[in-house]
Amino acid sequence: MARRRRRTSREVDDLVARAIRSAPDGLTAYGLMARLEKRQQPIAPTQTYRALRRLIERGVVRRIESLNAYVGTAPGMGHDAVSLFCRSCRRSLPVEAAGPVALLPTAAAEHGFRSVRIIVEIAGTCPDCSGQGGG
Ligand SMILES: [Zn+2]
Repeated sequence: MARRRRRTSREVDDLVARAIRSAPDGLTAYGLMARLEKRQQPIAPTQTYRALRRLIERGVVRRIESLNAYVGTAPGMGHDAVSLFCRSCRRSLPVEAAGPVALLPTAAAEHGFRSVRIIVEIAGTCPDCSGQGGG
């Protein structure tokens, strides 16, 4: 059996980013690894977690803390976007931080905090699950 060439971290990041983008409902780290394994592109847990960390730093992927899942970030969306997620179908939707939420990094800076990451998650029921979907 031919020895597989070791992937560069950039290649691992691309694989992970593509897998997450193809799962609009988000993926847990284990779900992500299972998906890549199924596609004959297995990635070791340490590589997976490192890739996720790099992708979060680059703003490509966001972690939904409450779901313990990772989702792709909408283009142009900052680190501090608010995540809405549905308790029923687990779908998540990023919303650009506005109003008081957008002021939180400034408030933290005024208290001398640096490298602040704001995590705001709103759990509820989406229009589809509550029967108020358009159409
Ligand atoms: Zn829903």
